[in-house]
Amino acid sequence: MRKALVAGNWKMHGRINQNINLIGDLVEQLSPIKESVSILVCPPLVYINQVGGLLSGTGINVGAQDVSRFEKDGAHTGDCSAEMLADMGVSYALVGHSERRSEYQETDAVVALKLKNLLQVGIKPILCVGESLEQRDAGLVEKVIADQILAAFSGLSVKELSNVVLAYEPIWAIGTGKTASPEQAQAVHAFIRQMLASGYGSEFSEQVTILYGGSVKAANADQLFSQPDIDGGLIGGAALVSEEFTAICRAAATSPKNG
Ligand code: PEP
Repeated sequence: MRKALVAGNWKMHGRINQNINLIGDLVEQLSPIKESVSILVCPPLVYINQVGGLLSGTGINVGAQDVSRFEKDGAHTGDCSAEMLADMGVSYALVGHSERRSEYQETDAVVALKLKNLLQVGIKPILCVGESLEQRDAGLVEKVIADQILAAFSGLSVKELSNVVLAYEPIWAIGTGKTASPEQAQAVHAFIRQMLASGYGSEFSEQVTILYGGSVKAANADQLFSQPDIDGGLIGGAALVSEEFTAICRAAATSPKNG
């Protein structure tokens, strides 16, 4: 059985005082369930140290929203390397979020470099994949997802990939209030597990955590997380409201299939 994971992606939100209040509320509210679900908070890079400090000793992890494509220190203004994130105690980092792909023209090749850099320093990458509405309407969901995953995994062995987490995030559901139905999401998660089984073996595909992301909230989390191949969520907007995020974590923790 796979243990549920809920990751909050704060995107470009937060201030020193707001962070103190939000983390304080989360630590209190999540305390009864934090043993049953892995919980991760990904603040903007500039607040990683602050949030990591506030979470220290609570069992809740701090993660990054992105990482440099460059492996070594050097003249890369504005970048932060995987090694630097590891130095700050970061345990997970998102790669390939659709907002990075669209706003910064990040290609699959760039995503692959980032994923590799994270694995090399022992940070668990959360690889985000997902289709646009046009691609869904054109019947291309499986092709788009398979291409994104295979490109990101290219050249890496099953052993090297053992720390990877996947997040299926249909672009049309991110920040739009339109959630994929539990059946739509489950169908894609099952497809991902199947394609991983054929490419990397069933042992790998059965152990890999696959999150769903796209307008998850307290009101729909139970139904989504009760699907057999949905192991938790990547949460944007609702991660900024402690009661919502806690309710989502509770839904993952109490899902009957949560290991
Ligand atoms: C996200 O940022 O990955 C996300 C899923 O956002 P939201 O929950 O706001 O749709």
